[in-house]
Amino acid sequence: MGYNCVVLVKQVPDTKRITGKVMNDDGTVNRAALPAIFNPEDLNALEMALQIKDKSACPEQGRGGGHITVISMGPPGAAKILRDALFRGADDAILITDQRCAASDTLATSYILACAVKKIAPDIVLCGRQAIDGDTAQVGPQLAEKLGVTQITYVEELLEIKDKTITVRRNIGNGWQQIRTRLPVLLTVTSDANEPRAAAAKRMMKYKNARTAVELEREIRIQNTEVSEEYTKELVEKKCGELKEKGLLIKQWDLDYIGADLTWCGRSGSPTKVHRIQSVVLAAKESKKVVPSDEGISNMIHELIEDKIIA
Ligand code: FAD
Repeated sequence: MGYNCVVLVKQVPDTKRITGKVMNDDGTVNRAALPAIFNPEDLNALEMALQIKDKSACPEQGRGGGHITVISMGPPGAAKILRDALFRGADDAILITDQRCAASDTLATSYILACAVKKIAPDIVLCGRQAIDGDTAQVGPQLAEKLGVTQITYVEELLEIKDKTITVRRNIGNGWQQIRTRLPVLLTVTSDANEPRAAAAKRMMKYKNARTAVELEREIRIQNTEVSEEYTKELVEKKCGELKEKGLLIKQWDLDYIGADLTWCGRSGSPTKVHRIQSVVLAAKESKKVVPSDEGISNMIHELIEDKIIA
């Protein structure tokens, strides 16, 4: 049988490729100095969904392996990673974009994502373990709570999926656990789980023109500067219809569409308050050369224990 999977993906600043001044003087992040990328572990989550689909497909019986929807909550530019997900094998993509999402902490983010996921009612929800910018690893578990489904975090291997049961191996730091549970389930997937497949050339040709309505509107406004507002809206509607027919319209949902209670979204839904931001510059004060031998390392460890740096 095929499974209905939802994969949550986040566009994040590439913290490994800093190209300018990362922090603004007011302590906020200068996003322009960091290229935006697909959150790495979300690629592992997508790959696991693709493996589930591959495992459950039966081409001899003309049966596909289910359906994969990728969802991202973010600004209009996040459509870029949704296209990337379509290139890699996702069937459908949804962007939740709404000014009223701004300033959402993890609680508000997971609430908004839960409202969207409930509209799809999937068998399996897959998240990355952690986003490389927020770094909290809270969204997956919070989302499972809000959906009222079983959660398995730190999944490092998909072992079996059969009928309505899934078996995975999860990392517990100093070992692993094998867990079997009935669907529906939410998994958070680690970078060790798999090697994400590359974008397929054929799919890139097919989906390179996939757009959200907001992207279309922006392109149409750039190309038609002299036309009336009414005509621009007509053009956007017409172009959206054409793309939808070809299966190239990336769905765009707002908070009204997903039926979100606004008091749980954005700033009002976010109990986390940032009181102070401090830039910490780590500077080496002193250094010591360690002789690269067993004795040298042993002496260093004894010194660290004596100085109570390690126990
Ligand atoms: P994690 O919990 O580490 O992510 C785990 C997994 O959850 C990811 O791998 C992914 O699969 C999924 N996931 C996480 N976020 C998303 C998403 N957006 N869409 C789809 N899947 C997702 N951020 C802003 O962009 N704008 C703001 O104005 C803003 N204001 C904030 C204000 C406060 C007070 C705080 C505390 C945070 C704010 N943030 C803002 C950051 C925002 O809360 C986090 O980016 C977001 O909640 C995700 O948390 P995380 O990055 O720690 O994700």
